[in-house]
Amino acid sequence: MIIENERPVLSSSTWTATANARPDTPPLREDLQSDVTVVGGGYTGLSTALHLAEKGVSVTLLEAEHPGWGASGRNGGQVIPGLKEDPDTIEEMFGPEMGRRMVRLSGAAPDLVFSLIDTYGIDCGAVREGWIQSAHNAEAVRTCQERAEQWQRRGADIEALNKQQVDDLLGSEAYHGGLIDRRGGGVHPLNYTLGLARAAIAQGARVFGHSRVISLDRRSDGFLVRTALGSVHTGKVVLATNAYTPDLTGRLRRSMVPACSVQVATAPLSENVRRSILPYGHVASDTRKLLVYYRLDEHGRFLIGGRGAYGDGGIEAQMARLRARACQLYPQLGEPDWEHRWGGFVAMTRDHFPHLHEIEPGLIAGLGFNGRGVAMATAMGRVLADKASGTADKDLDFPVTPVRTIPFYFLRKPAVSVLAAWYALVDRT
Ligand SMILES: Cc1cc2nc3c(=O)[nH]c(=O)nc-3n(C[C@H](O)[C@H](O)[C@H](O)COP(=O)(O)OP(=O)(O)OC[C@H]3O[C@@H](n4cnc5c(N)ncnc54)[C@H](O)[C@@H]3O)c2cc1C
Repeated sequence: MIIENERPVLSSSTWTATANARPDTPPLREDLQSDVTVVGGGYTGLSTALHLAEKGVSVTLLEAEHPGWGASGRNGGQVIPGLKEDPDTIEEMFGPEMGRRMVRLSGAAPDLVFSLIDTYGIDCGAVREGWIQSAHNAEAVRTCQERAEQWQRRGADIEALNKQQVDDLLGSEAYHGGLIDRRGGGVHPLNYTLGLARAAIAQGARVFGHSRVISLDRRSDGFLVRTALGSVHTGKVVLATNAYTPDLTGRLRRSMVPACSVQVATAPLSENVRRSILPYGHVASDTRKLLVYYRLDEHGRFLIGGRGAYGDGGIEAQMARLRARACQLYPQLGEPDWEHRWGGFVAMTRDHFPHLHEIEPGLIAGLGFNGRGVAMATAMGRVLADKASGTADKDLDFPVTPVRTIPFYFLRKPAVSVLAAWYALVDRT
């Protein structure tokens, strides 16, 4: 069965072409007992399973395809600290206590990613030179300055950049200034996911691939989770399906809108061209509402990503725009060999924040990373593991909120297209 959002044009990538061997994750073919069952094998689910297994909790993870099949195996691999909103706003919105925890959790999320990579020896081309946010106009330069100041007040290694500095670090003259956040970096996203799966299995988690959850029924002492060939009788369930959330619980799926993001990548560049692009090993994205994100991979391929579309024709058109944009940013690319193109779905929420829900007692979910989940979904997994192993809500590093569905959900696709057109206008100002 194909997930509703999937399109064949999206799944074969630079990352799948350069992936490490997958860990053995056979389909579930028996009836198991488990304290916790995690649904979804991306960063959120695997980090939850790993952290639970580290605590000695018995945990089973069920993935519909294979670990890293979803956004976690397809993204730009940019490890970016923080949430979409800046720290002062988060503390204002969530209060000094919870707000501060959220800022700390999201700011330190890259530390968690790179420490898991170190601890478990995950081979994923990790580099930690920092993330550059490049400002597309004068107002965005000011926003970057304020953002840098707010994080600096909290001790983060981040700095505003003027035009000359950003030109030098990017190897491109396309921007007006920006910031460098040295907490960030880059990974091979699929190999990071596969490494998390191996680590979780090594710690005792049972991880099953090709095991789509088809039903979830409450029992007196927990839940019965069914796949086509087996079942798990479990105390708690953690839903970690983000933009690929199925209709298992009704409301959860309607709390976010899956939006397509696509990428294109060149073949490895010649040594001299490669040295002129992001020469110090940074990863970068810009400040536009319809932003582009770009980087080199460890073999010197140039990758650029941005907004996708819902139909195959629209997706191809967006990919062509990205190729043109890449050559505007870096004319030295000439007419490169565009080797791969792919994409996936990000889960957009109304307030642009990720959410941690307890849909009913023992049925927990973490989702809505709004295109910024390499670090944050890994961190959310740790919080979900705390919640599933009994930490009181008041002691968690992220608030537990009720599920709020998006009104007029059936209009989500035209609404995303209208919003994108509006953002394109705003970006031109
Ligand atoms: C093209 C693209 C580029 C991106 N670039 C970046 C970036 O550079 N930096 C960044 O921070 N973030 C980026 N993101 C966002 C980031 O990839 C996501 O936020 C993150 O991967 C979400 O992880 P997840 O584990 O929550 O979800 P996913 O990785 O999507 O995993 C969900 C899993 O649930 C499974 N599933 C669904 N239904 C069922 C079921 N019924 N039973 C069992 N399993 C099920 C799916 O098969 C899937 O594998 C990007 C996303 C995309 C799509």
